[in-house]
Amino acid sequence: MQPAPSRLVPSRLVPEVDFDRDGRQTGFIRLFHSVDSSAFGFIPIPIVVIRNGAGPTALFVAGNHGDEFEGQVALCNLARTLDPASIQGRVIILPAANFPAAMAGRRTSPIDGGNLNRAFPGAADGGVTAQIAYFMETVLLPLADVVCDLHSGGASLLYTPCALVIRPPDPARLLPLIDLLTAFGAPLAFLAGGGNGTGDTQALAGAAARRGVPSMNTELGGAGMVGGKGLRLAERGLINVLVHAGILPPDRRIPVPGPMRLVELGGPDYYVHATDKGVFEPLAEPGETVRAGQPAARLHRPETPWDPPTLLHFQRDGLVMCKRVPGRTERGDCLFHLGTDI
Ligand code: CA
Repeated sequence: MQPAPSRLVPSRLVPEVDFDRDGRQTGFIRLFHSVDSSAFGFIPIPIVVIRNGAGPTALFVAGNHGDEFEGQVALCNLARTLDPASIQGRVIILPAANFPAAMAGRRTSPIDGGNLNRAFPGAADGGVTAQIAYFMETVLLPLADVVCDLHSGGASLLYTPCALVIRPPDPARLLPLIDLLTAFGAPLAFLAGGGNGTGDTQALAGAAARRGVPSMNTELGGAGMVGGKGLRLAERGLINVLVHAGILPPDRRIPVPGPMRLVELGGPDYYVHATDKGVFEPLAEPGETVRAGQPAARLHRPETPWDPPTLLHFQRDGLVMCKRVPGRTERGDCLFHLGTDI
């Protein structure tokens, strides 16, 4: 039998931490990168491993997109404050997964342009972003029993804070994911994965699904800032996921204010994309309920201000999940997407 490629070609990244040692370990995953300014240097991707004996493992990731900050802050706080003695099992914290992107405050890597959440399964001998994906796919995911990948809207989108899971190909696998979402305790959550261009199989969530590891994501806010509401949601949710996984005891569960509203994200009619370039005037806000045919946006042309703006409409009823942030807009930019109750 042919061995799996992951066994054949080990990751070139070298973690400074020992995943099997008890206590709180901090250090870097060394991603060797030879450049003019540093012949034998490495890119230091920070990692924190908190372990107390045998038990399940949670893998918490942020900075998968480097311009999404609420999750990075939530994981910095958790890495410092989670007491190893309080847990049973292991928590692996990766607050700046695409480290070059996170340091640049950008969605993608300034080194190779790589979008980590479109880079899975990665490649042992690929560019830096593909090498990070390959390490996560072949080293971290096999250790994990549950994965939380903390996203926000980044520089270009602002979400009403929510959580999500990617709809698995096998419907029998959906229920454990809904349980995980419910444990996280976001007031709003959505099911994604309707061929909407999010590159499911190339995402960390897709990698987790390949390995049968339950995983969830968030959209905590965005606009390139740290939103307080999204940050608090993440901090509560992470603790509750640790309780759900049996890593923290049940009495550590933080009560959530109310039931979760679960919506789904479907096909192209859930989106409003710019049909022209111009300055985007939003006519709806995240969290608002809209109707099919309702005006969504005007695209203005300040270069010929006497021309009427292009008027765009929502194509279906739904809840506005996010809106575009920058004013200047090109044809094809996503201005909004909706969710509909399940
Ligand atoms: Ca993202």
